[in-house]
Amino acid sequence: MSTYLVAGGAGFIGSNLCEKLLSEGAQVICIDNLITGSESNVSSFFSNTNFIFINHDIIKGVPVISGEITGIFHLASPASPNAKSSRSYMAYPIETLMVNSQGTKNLLDFAKEKKASFLYASSSEIYGDPTISPQSEDCFGNVNPIGPRSVYDEGKRFGESLCMTYYRKFGLNVRIARIFNTYGEEMQKDDGRVVSNFIIQALKNDKITVYGDGNQTRSFCYIDDLVDGLIAAIKKNVSGQVINLGNPEEYRIIDLAQKIKTLVKSESQIIHEELPEDDPHQRKPDISKAQKLLNFHPKVALDEGLKKTIEYFRGL
Ligand code: UDP
Repeated sequence: MSTYLVAGGAGFIGSNLCEKLLSEGAQVICIDNLITGSESNVSSFFSNTNFIFINHDIIKGVPVISGEITGIFHLASPASPNAKSSRSYMAYPIETLMVNSQGTKNLLDFAKEKKASFLYASSSEIYGDPTISPQSEDCFGNVNPIGPRSVYDEGKRFGESLCMTYYRKFGLNVRIARIFNTYGEEMQKDDGRVVSNFIIQALKNDKITVYGDGNQTRSFCYIDDLVDGLIAAIKKNVSGQVINLGNPEEYRIIDLAQKIKTLVKSESQIIHEELPEDDPHQRKPDISKAQKLLNFHPKVALDEGLKKTIEYFRGL
């Protein structure tokens, strides 16, 4: 039987990943310190004897875990850039830097000890405000190293560097997934991401807050597609590879606002607020590497995924 450790397993992506791994019959050890994740995201797994939850901060080290570990997913990090949210990485700047540096090292050492496969959840933030589009893995990025987003961007860049060092120095079986904007069930309603913000605003008939003129673009991947990509990445022999995961369909934020308003049949007014500092102008993944190495083909179109996500938020 396979056993996976999911650090950050009570977050949005982590909890969906735990659910999928459990549905495949794997044992799952979820570690989370719950600063931005929620126990409620994983409490439905508590009755499953294949699931273990450990409330712990991996910056302090990895708890003693006996037995074999097949693979380790490192998703532990605050990830929302919205300074208005108490769950954002702006609210936890030191923790964000440390979990991606010391936390990553602790998990890499653990992977080395256990001879486990390792997946580091990196981010499209690596590319900063990209100068070319779509972004392929060989782009080095255009990142402000000292701006407010740098705690996350540079944290992830350091984490990537550490992973590649363990691959080169110790031959560790490590891969890096650069995750682009993802949405779906189990998103935190208050983390300030654009999809959750717009859906909640539309459902309440509150003003939909487009930051800036709304001409900036993002490409949105539905959670189930992303989880399939993460699982394929840890199972395949792609050691030493960095791979973009996301859906390359690109939308302007203003068009996303209109689309959500229409899908919700909302009477919300769309308004404009100040664009946050260093907000990237465009984001669109080149996923040809993921297609080739992982047979990764996102299936869920934005309208279909948004409808499911809207129903999730309506039910909360
Ligand atoms: N955004 C927005 N209104 C909101 C939240 C976000 O217009 O209420 C914009 C944000 O400025 C960015 C895009 O939507 O251009 C995506 O933001 P998000 O925080 O979801 O993630 P990012 O892609 O910036 O990491």
